[in-house]
Amino acid sequence: MMVPNGKITSCFSLLLDLIPVISTNSVDPDTIFSNNEMSLRDIEIYGFDYDYTLAFYSRHLHTLIFNIARDILITNHRYPEGLREYEYIPNFAVRGLHYDVQKALLMKIDAFHYIQLGTVYRGLHSVPDEEVIAMYQGSHVPLEIMSDFYGKSSHGHTMKQFMDIFSLPEMTLLSCVNDFFMRHNIDYEPVHLYKDVKEAIRDVHVKGIMYRAVEADIEKYICYGEQSHAVLKKLSEHGKKMFLITNSPFDFVDRGMNYIVGKDWRDLFDVVIVQADKPGFFNDRRKPFRRVTDKGALLWDRIHRLEKGKIYKQGNLYEFLRLTGWRGSKVLYFGDHIYSDLADLTLKHGWRTGAIIPELRKEIKIMNTEQYMHMMAWLQALTGLIEQMQVHRDPASQAVVDEWIREREAMRAQTKDIFNSQFGSLFRTYHNPTYFSRRLSRFADIYMASISCLLNYDFQHTFFPRRTPLQHESPFCRSLFVKAPIPNRITS
Ligand SMILES: [Mg+2]
Repeated sequence: MMVPNGKITSCFSLLLDLIPVISTNSVDPDTIFSNNEMSLRDIEIYGFDYDYTLAFYSRHLHTLIFNIARDILITNHRYPEGLREYEYIPNFAVRGLHYDVQKALLMKIDAFHYIQLGTVYRGLHSVPDEEVIAMYQGSHVPLEIMSDFYGKSSHGHTMKQFMDIFSLPEMTLLSCVNDFFMRHNIDYEPVHLYKDVKEAIRDVHVKGIMYRAVEADIEKYICYGEQSHAVLKKLSEHGKKMFLITNSPFDFVDRGMNYIVGKDWRDLFDVVIVQADKPGFFNDRRKPFRRVTDKGALLWDRIHRLEKGKIYKQGNLYEFLRLTGWRGSKVLYFGDHIYSDLADLTLKHGWRTGAIIPELRKEIKIMNTEQYMHMMAWLQALTGLIEQMQVHRDPASQAVVDEWIREREAMRAQTKDIFNSQFGSLFRTYHNPTYFSRRLSRFADIYMASISCLLNYDFQHTFFPRRTPLQHESPFCRSLFVKAPIPNRITS
């Protein structure tokens, strides 16, 4: 780093001031993080989604979904046989990406609707920044073409957001099929490709292919079962009411819960709703509950009570609230899908919400490395130096500032690649929060890597969001790397 004569002393003392104190403390991946203050003292009723909330799946499930959907494209949609050469690529995509259906581009967008340059992929290859800027006349994506609150594309919306963990194989398949067509110079319509892949992935779920495969080899596909069991047991021992609202069918949930909890799993839950059709469940008042027998038969009688031990299908939240009386902030619902599981509950119904973000565990592990901490400290210092020194307009000073700016830009790639070399972190686009992060902070009171994090807290615990200074407020502490404390955490 070159520093102009006469500025060396002031520059280095400034640098020392700007380098944040690096704490040797790391963030505990079992922490529950809060966006909004919430006390477990107030929570009497706990609700759960099933897939990726109570049941966690191994990496084999994504390979299974990818392979089945790829074969459906070939067999049912007459896609080229050559597609079979593609295998699932673990760690290609991350959750929360946007896909431009018209242009066949997968990309990461930040909280301010800007595309993160360097994270735009056509097929399996990165699109040069200049090309992206030319296509979008800059890097901003207007609201009109973004998908709605629930990540769905409707008329005129060409950007679909993938928020589901199940969508990782879908994004990878889309990228592989685009790659195949481009490599073979086949003229194709990207809109048809998107719809066909979407339909093939949906068929894997709807036609029960995935359910049957998981049920046939449950040990291969479900992991962390005992921790979910321990959480449910703890809640039950403390007299908490519990319910399950899942979009999955009863057989599949029953088989999984038998594996996770045991054959008496239904004793733990006061209400069990399957095939709920979320997010429609939270909005559509018309769909009544229907009883399902243990053998899967549907009964025709009108539902006047939601009884423990019985299984109900579909229904809607308005009817659920009327029949149970479980309203407002005494209810905490956990789910992994920020839109389908949590958005309506926060926006319309006032339940408290907990987001399950399994990716946190991997990202926190990276953030705890010395390499990452030093990178962040230097990035912060460099930013501060540029901010302070830019006022010196003489050519020598400007040359140094320009060098710092180039160094800061070069660090963008490092801070991205350390998480995922294509798309970086789920939570950040360089300095800004991602579109995903913005939604997470809006719709989830608390968030955590897995439901098992609850085992670290007692039922008197209050989660306080950290009071990070607003831009116009003066910070109380300079340190970037403050350990996320777990006050009153159970240590035994
Ligand atoms: Mg789920």
